[in-house]
Order: sequence, then structure tokens, then C-alpha cells
Amino acid sequence: MLEIRDLSLHYGPHLALDRISVAVGRGETVVMLGANGAGKSSLLKAAAGLVRPDPGADIRFAGADIAGRPAHLVLEAGIALVPEGRGVFGDLTVEENLALGAYARRARAHGRASRELVYGLFPKLADRRRQFVNTMSGGEQQMVAIGRALMSKPDLLMLDEPSLGLAPVVVGELFAALGRVRESGLALLIVEQNVKMSLSIADRGYLLEAGRIVGEDTAAGLMNDDAVKRAFLGAT
Ligand code: ATP
Repeated sequence: MLEIRDLSLHYGPHLALDRISVAVGRGETVVMLGANGAGKSSLLKAAAGLVRPDPGADIRFAGADIAGRPAHLVLEAGIALVPEGRGVFGDLTVEENLALGAYARRARAHGRASRELVYGLFPKLADRRRQFVNTMSGGEQQMVAIGRALMSKPDLLMLDEPSLGLAPVVVGELFAALGRVRESGLALLIVEQNVKMSLSIADRGYLLEAGRIVGEDTAAGLMNDDAVKRAFLGAT
């Protein structure tokens, strides 16, 4: 469904992505692993239309050419991004944040149904729908960010480090919810430092190193890969 070929990205003279090719199938969950600075966020931002790739990149979503399209049109095509650091509006309530997620044309008519779906997924948010988001815990704010992205009725949800800074028990809750999102048929592309947790809900994954894809395997394959174990799973 998402097909990226020959994606390169420069920030000035700095080459952040070097002819990357990545694919996510319909309903598939794919994890992007890599050390700090490998280019994981840049990849998601380029796919979401937040940074412009170098000329020659081929990015297709459900057959449509989306390379270089602005973010609001990528959103209309069915890709939603939950950015690193969440990007929620702290001085608005949960319900107001969710409403802002439904402004895409493809989503407007479905606001109420999508909201109930989000509250079903995250019952904690339903109990706090009128609470200001800046009074909520990090985990709850991440739920708001994911809920807001879901309000746009995406076919592909991309998440940049959703577990960053959260306590282990909260991370478990979050990934359980993402597992349910996956079961609902959405495709997921997840950038995560929590390799064990993310591979546990994934079908496949890629290894990104200094802007290049250096490995690709099934989730089970990556879990047993010596390089992955050494780099990310604490094995010696
Ligand atoms: P992290 O997990 O630390 O966010 P990452 O794998 O997501 O890392 P990116 O944020 O995509 O990596 O960054 C890739 C490279 O591009 C890094 O060397 C980074 O310093 C550089 N970079 C990222 N954003 C910019 C920018 N706006 N201007 C200049 N260089 C940038």
C-alpha cells in the first residue's frame, strides 16, 4: 500500500537518507529500527509530506504518487502521523484535540463514530474527555495523540517513538492498544527504541543505519538476529 523507492533526503549538505526503499502492505505492521540519528524520523516526515525529499524519490500510496505532496494532501490520501513528542494541544481538552483530528475531508462526516472508536480503544480518555491535556500523564497524552491521528480515518498510521519517556507498564498498555488498532485492519509503520515491544506486534521490520537500509526481515527473524540482539536487545 505504501511503496517508497529511492528516497534520498538532504538537510543542506547533510545526507540523512540515502536511496531508501521501504514498503508497507495493506493491514501490515512494520517496524523501523535504528540508532539515534539513523534517519528514522526523517523517513516518516518525508512520507508524511513534512519534509521534501530529493528529486527522484518515488513514494506511492494506494497507487497514487505522493512524493513531495504537502502534509494535508498526504493526510487526505490516508496517511496519519503521530509525531515524536506527540504534538498535542495542552490547553485544549481531550475532546477538542480529537475534534481537530477530524478536519480532513475524508474524516468530517465520521467524527462522532471515530470519536466513539477512539474512546473504545482508550477508555481512560472517555473518562477524561473534558480534561485539559496538559494536566494529563505522558501516557494519556500519547493516547490523545494516537486518538487524534485515528480521527482522520487513516489507512496507514505512522508512529514516531510512541513509547518515549513512558513507564514500562504504560508502554505495555499502549502497545496492547496498538495491537487492537492493528487487528482493526489498519496498517502501521512504527519507529521505536523499544525493540522487543514493537517487534511483538509487528509482521516485519527494517534496520536503518546512517541513512541506509541495512537489513529487512520478519519480526521473528529480527528478534533472533545477532546484530539486532547486540544493538537493541541488550545481548552481549
Ligand atoms: P532520533 O531517534 O534521534 O530522532 P532518527 O533516526 O529519527 O534519530 P533523524 O531525526 O531522522 O534520525 O535524523 C537523521 C539525521 O539528520 C541526523 O544526523 C540529524 O542530525 C539530521 N537532521 C535531522 N533533522 C534535521 C534538520 N532539520 N536539519 C539538519 N539536520 C537534520
